[in-house]
Amino acid sequence: MRIAEVKNSREQRIAAHSHIKGLGLRDDGYAEPIASGFVGQEQAREACGIVVDLIKSKKMSGRALLFAGAPGTGKTAIALAISQELGPKVPFCPMVGSEVFSSEIKKTEVLMENFRRAIGLRIKETKEVYEGEITELTPEETENPLGGYGKTISHVLIGLKTVKGTKQLKLDPSIYESIQKEKVTVGDVIYIEANTGAVKRVGRSDAYATEFDLEAEEYVPLPKGEVHKKKELIQDVTLHDLDVANARPQGGQDVMSMMGQFMKPKKTEITDKLRKEINKVVNKYIDQGIAELVPGVLFIDEVHMLDIECFTYLNRALESTLSPIVVFATNRGMCSIRGTEDIISPHGIPVDLLDRLLIIRTLPYTLEEIRVIITIRAKTEGLTVQDDALNHLADVGLKTSLRYAIQLLAPANIMAKINGRDEIFKGDVEEAGDLFLDSKRSAKIVTEENRGFIV
Ligand code: ATP
Repeated sequence: MRIAEVKNSREQRIAAHSHIKGLGLRDDGYAEPIASGFVGQEQAREACGIVVDLIKSKKMSGRALLFAGAPGTGKTAIALAISQELGPKVPFCPMVGSEVFSSEIKKTEVLMENFRRAIGLRIKETKEVYEGEITELTPEETENPLGGYGKTISHVLIGLKTVKGTKQLKLDPSIYESIQKEKVTVGDVIYIEANTGAVKRVGRSDAYATEFDLEAEEYVPLPKGEVHKKKELIQDVTLHDLDVANARPQGGQDVMSMMGQFMKPKKTEITDKLRKEINKVVNKYIDQGIAELVPGVLFIDEVHMLDIECFTYLNRALESTLSPIVVFATNRGMCSIRGTEDIISPHGIPVDLLDRLLIIRTLPYTLEEIRVIITIRAKTEGLTVQDDALNHLADVGLKTSLRYAIQLLAPANIMAKINGRDEIFKGDVEEAGDLFLDSKRSAKIVTEENRGFIV
């Protein structure tokens, strides 16, 4: 067993919404009650459908969206759905307002980095590639130190076409990570970029999988000088990816060789000067028709946590031609703007920024909606839940929060496993609920049993 890399928190945040596939709207723009993984919240989804149209017809520049609603009313989920509706591989970058406060990095620097994570670039380049087919692949379950399991690859054989014919190779494990990123399985056809070893899945073929009898024993490098073909490859990256790749000293000459290095992230300094250089190169590629900009969605939750300095920065950044669609979210009403001498404003947002916002409300869910959302989530996580356990979870969700109810699924599943079952019973949910408090119960205990807590 090997230790898998811990997924970064951004990926995990998006993983919680993996059942969301779009806004679930009909052709006439009305929301289906349940569609594309979405349940209820019809008005907000319909409003977002209009926003998607505005974005597509380029009428949203300089403006942004604000979701106002209680926690757990699907604000993140709807923002993600907007990015999905804008097209495949449109970046979605979620962050929380409080993330900007750090002792090491300037607030505006954090905002800038997230802006660049939300701006995609689709690059077309003609490259020398090997064509190959995955002939053998052994996935290995790996334990994540923070819980759960992931899959890595422990063994791969590739039938590689070269100028000398097709041979089966056991390529150096340095290629595994790239293979894994493409989620390939046996029978998939891949291109391997000759210079960087970056892998791209291009389709499926069983045509020559059976031709090999050679049993590969030793790891070998890519056979240099035997490249089979030139191909136009399309890569989707974000401006932030380019910043990171180029902040490394060994950065390659062209965009594609920078891609090959993404697999080994390393902490490095990204300076303003570097960003300017990258913008220049990117603009050149855009002018030459090699690259195309794909503005994505930057989601800033708890926007009231930002301060006046951040708002000033955002006001300016929204004006830029290189801006993603910015979606703010808040659950606050009137409150003071941070960093001011108590200027009170709706949602803690200065009025000049408020002026640019389209505001959409998200409403609390009904019991039945919560039940359906939990059912969808359980299915996505591969869990079997008995009906009365589901009903109980829905009750809990209504009384506490949807997020808490969904979070009980995993521990309840462990309870079921301990009791030798693959199915979650109501008792498992109750036991999990006894072990892990929701915020209201926790607050109640703190208030009632003040002794023992530092006040
Ligand atoms: P908010 O940003 O308003 O707090 P959220 O989108 O982050 O809400 P969570 O509280 O994290 O929502 O919701 C828990 C889970 O419920 C997530 O997996 C989310 O995708 C899902 N969810 C929320 N609303 C809906 C909905 N209307 N339909 C389907 N799934 C939903």
